[in-house]
Amino acid sequence: ETTDVVIIGAGPAGLTLANLLQRNGIACIVLEARDRSHVEDRQRAGVLDHYGAEIFTAAGLSDAIIADAPREKMLELRYEGEPHFFAGPAHTGGRAGVIVPQQLLVRRLLATFVEAGGDLRFGVSDIRLRDLSQPRITYAGGELTASYIAGCDGFHGISRRSIPPDSLTTYEFDHGIGWYTVLAESPPPWHALMGISHHGFAAQFARGPQASRFYLQYEPGGADPRDWPDDYTWDQLRLRLGDPNLPAGPITDREIVEMRSFVAEPMSHQNLFLAGDAAHIITPMGAKGMNLALFDADVLARALTAALRDGDESGLPAYSDVCLRRTWDYQEFSRWFTEMVHDAGAQSDPFRRRLARARFDRLFTNPAAAAHFADMMAGTPHPT
Ligand code: FAD
Repeated sequence: ETTDVVIIGAGPAGLTLANLLQRNGIACIVLEARDRSHVEDRQRAGVLDHYGAEIFTAAGLSDAIIADAPREKMLELRYEGEPHFFAGPAHTGGRAGVIVPQQLLVRRLLATFVEAGGDLRFGVSDIRLRDLSQPRITYAGGELTASYIAGCDGFHGISRRSIPPDSLTTYEFDHGIGWYTVLAESPPPWHALMGISHHGFAAQFARGPQASRFYLQYEPGGADPRDWPDDYTWDQLRLRLGDPNLPAGPITDREIVEMRSFVAEPMSHQNLFLAGDAAHIITPMGAKGMNLALFDADVLARALTAALRDGDESGLPAYSDVCLRRTWDYQEFSRWFTEMVHDAGAQSDPFRRRLARARFDRLFTNPAAAAHFADMMAGTPHPT
């Protein structure tokens, strides 16, 4: 069997790329290791930044994907219990992110692609990339040849590992912080809420009308916070969010979030192109991981379309550099934000605690600093 592009992985990157190629009349086949319900139910990101949303608008997919999504208008940063409201869109000429839980985005992308006749195969095991220059892909029970492979199979996938190690340079950074996240049937906050406190960082975000996702900083190397009694978790959240009346609710999910960064350079090798978490991971601070995955998919869709439809291959060698520039820009933002909200903690040294406070105060006293922060939150424009 032969096609133009084989896409490995049906996460946000693979499904966005599949939809964009389909809209442009480029044939593709998506191979996904897991079953449909696993892919559709995986809860992770919650915010699509302004430019992430623009990708779907430009492709004529906004009605199908984001039409009813509420806009992100306000972030509350509570410093030792004292509220500070940051109205991002007021500093960006109205540009704002939209609240779209990742599993909803994935479900809609998947349905749109399949309903338009897309070829998406679930439960495909033992995928191997046999040849990257004249792509040949084998899997349990089948074989495909293609002009190009898009490796969209996340950090643990096989695509990046199919590139000879001496052709890749990898960068890894451990932020030295632990994050524990719980999903709870507890009323969502009015605005996205982050608590900066000497007890440690905490955050609360809406996950639909009845539920909240909470994040709590913890000291890595100690007791596993998934074993914390629920009462202790709620006490910590009340302390850190400065809200003694925060209502408790049943906790339905407990997870550890790895606070580390990773970048592989370059993001391509011969006719294999990596996109999303397959090439880079970023901490959730700043909410850029899913957005980077979508940006990569958009840049790759343009380059592949130009090559396959118009015979213009110039976008493909540029793909990696274009995406890496934005990746590093967002890595820096995520690190900057991480330091600001975590260095206030008691475990930080007193000097860094003061720097974190100065960084925080600048957002509310210096309009240029506020505009820059809002601009990074809303996302940076597309490369043309
Ligand atoms: P993935 O979503 O990992 O998808 C990869 C797909 O490939 C999966 O479906 C997988 O099953 C499949 N696959 C894997 N191996 C194979 C194989 N060998 N063969 C075939 N298929 C395979 N980002 C944000 O922007 N904002 C946030 O607020 C945010 N919060 C987060 C919170 C948490 C707790 C976590 C864990 C992540 C968060 N992220 C956030 C990051 C975001 O979820 C990821 O960046 C995003 O999922 C990346 O999409 P992807 O398509 O590149 O990879």
